[in-house]
Amino acid sequence: MSLQLPADFAASIKKSLGTAYPAFLDALDEEPPVSIRLNPHKKIPDTGTAVPWCSTGRYLPSRPVFTTDPFLHAGAYYVQEASSMFLEQAIVQHVDRSRPLRVLDVSAAPGGKSTHLLSLISADSILVANEVIRSRASILSENIQKWGYPNVVVTSNDPQDFGRLAGFFDVIVLDAPCSGEGLFRKDKDAMQEWSPRHVQLCAQRQERILHDVWPSLKENGVLIYSTCTYEEAENLDQLIRVTKVYDAECLQLEIPDPWNIAVLKKEDASGYQLYPHLVKGEGFFLGALRKKSTQDNARRGGYKKQVQTPSSTVISQVSAWVDDPAKCFWIQHGETVHMMPEGMRVDWPILQSSLNVVYAGTAVGTVTRNKIIPEHSLALSIRLQKESHPTHELSIDDALQYLRKNPIAVEAPEGMTLVTYGGLGLGWLNVLKNRSNNLYPVNWRIRNL
Ligand code: SAM
Repeated sequence: MSLQLPADFAASIKKSLGTAYPAFLDALDEEPPVSIRLNPHKKIPDTGTAVPWCSTGRYLPSRPVFTTDPFLHAGAYYVQEASSMFLEQAIVQHVDRSRPLRVLDVSAAPGGKSTHLLSLISADSILVANEVIRSRASILSENIQKWGYPNVVVTSNDPQDFGRLAGFFDVIVLDAPCSGEGLFRKDKDAMQEWSPRHVQLCAQRQERILHDVWPSLKENGVLIYSTCTYEEAENLDQLIRVTKVYDAECLQLEIPDPWNIAVLKKEDASGYQLYPHLVKGEGFFLGALRKKSTQDNARRGGYKKQVQTPSSTVISQVSAWVDDPAKCFWIQHGETVHMMPEGMRVDWPILQSSLNVVYAGTAVGTVTRNKIIPEHSLALSIRLQKESHPTHELSIDDALQYLRKNPIAVEAPEGMTLVTYGGLGLGWLNVLKNRSNNLYPVNWRIRNL
């Protein structure tokens, strides 16, 4: 056994796993499986083998150099650990997706669960992807823009700020900060940080976050709680406490036997634990709760911020750049015009007045004195009207040069050209008479190939 587990952790997991402990240790010595989740709106050749609990999850036979794959930068897939894709089962089995939903991902960076949720909810639903740490919210925003869906608002708020949105959300996902025991095989730092005291602090923080966000869940709404740890105090005990303190019931999931997912029960609560010796994935825990009634008065304040909308001339120009413009709601933030689904007309004034918005909908264009310049996120959008601009398909070499923000020579008419790889938008190139300007965002460029 090469991995030196913290002694206290080893003793407690040995006790809880009993005869399965040697198999658990063996699994920690194996190479972690490699998995991706495909973007249903950005088709690439399907590859790998299916992750049983996730319709778009795929195991890859080995780890490619993801950075040098333009499809990753085009948002065609997200590199995600397979166990955490189990979230799909809670949504599919307990959420009515036939009606528009308001969904909150409380701790969303870097965006694994949020991009997954966007693939699962309907186009007229909305996701608020929140991350309290501002620098991590930027990474979240980048990954959300690459995924290309317009029905999303990225925010950077402390969980307690969601108290301003009493009874607002149909679904809340709390993928909580935790002691990270399930990631020891992949993340040696998590092992360094581990201590019984750290577990205790994590449990206290989880309790506080649950307390803070619970009022913003609607009556009959579903809260999905997950961690990547094995600690009962951070997992089942959190579910039990919610059912005791608030009016909530713990929901059960149907799990086919071959999936090898352990069903944990304590008092009236059920939780689902994925172990690395039983599944092809890391350690992951998930439970789901339904709110039976609201104890809070769902009163929200007035919405102080005015909604800025673009002029009709601007709207008529940018409408040509997106599919189905009749189903869009347009806002203007500074010089930038953003597109959102029509249903956001009601929710946007509430969200922009209550939360610190980092990014919203799809940024479509920037209005200058005499023209509108397409925004980078439009190039990545699943709603881009491809015929609206000249398109130039890049070779793999040119695509990588483009993603490094190096100059590339293309033969295309002068003006803004959408560059694609495998038919998927990567960004914009401003073609001039004798050269072209590579408009790839400087902060997103590939630094080392
Ligand atoms: N859901 C993300 C995904 O699938 O990509 C992973 C989330 S990670 C397990 C937990 C997140 O909680 C981190 O992004 C971390 O910054 C955030 N976090 C840390 N402290 C927090 C707090 N006090 N309240 C809410 N979130 C917090």
